[in-house]
Amino acid sequence: MQINSAEFIKSAQKPHQYPVHDLPEIAFAGRSNVGKSTLINVLVNRKHLVKTSKTPGRTQLINFFLVNQAFFLVDLPGYGYAKVPKALRDSWGPLVETYLLKRKQLNGVVLILDIRRTPGYAELNFVDWLQQHSIPSILVLTKTDKLSKSQQANQLRAIVKRFARNREDFILFSGKTRSGRSLVWESIEALIANESAE
Ligand code: GDP
Repeated sequence: MQINSAEFIKSAQKPHQYPVHDLPEIAFAGRSNVGKSTLINVLVNRKHLVKTSKTPGRTQLINFFLVNQAFFLVDLPGYGYAKVPKALRDSWGPLVETYLLKRKQLNGVVLILDIRRTPGYAELNFVDWLQQHSIPSILVLTKTDKLSKSQQANQLRAIVKRFARNREDFILFSGKTRSGRSLVWESIEALIANESAE
């Protein structure tokens, strides 16, 4: 993907605040501090388009970024700071659920997971929930630079098993080395093309 432009358009909480357009949107979800901002910045070749290391507990907003005047990358608030994370509704809130269920322009969700961490119920429930609602997902395992190749392979095996998905469903990524960037773009492009073909 050649990036010609990437710009912040607006933040929103309620649907009436979402930007008005007919372009496809790809949303990014993940636990706070997982590396979501870093991934988006690497994708669009910008250091600080999305602010990194946000203070937890701040007002939660959905941020919309327009890329190449052609599609939007949508940064959903991070989850996981709740003291008792339960179901999606409790741990992440109606803000995200409303966006995911109501947004007609949504083509798919990129879920970002730390490759070093065994996914918990929040992640497993979220992926199930996306499937139940027929929302396509891309699963990105980030911070791979923090593990050796053999550790990566072991973690990948464990995570694939835990989600009961296929190896091909996961993309290994590092915000530090940028490895995996083109694979993430290929998957996003496929989601965007999918929708245009319908
Ligand atoms: P967010 O809260 O999910 O948006 O996470 P950030 O993108 O702000 O990243 C949280 C912290 O992890 C920051 O200190 C980043 O520099 C670091 N980080 C993010 N991605 C990677 C990665 O792939 N490798 C390494 N080594 N550090 C990363």
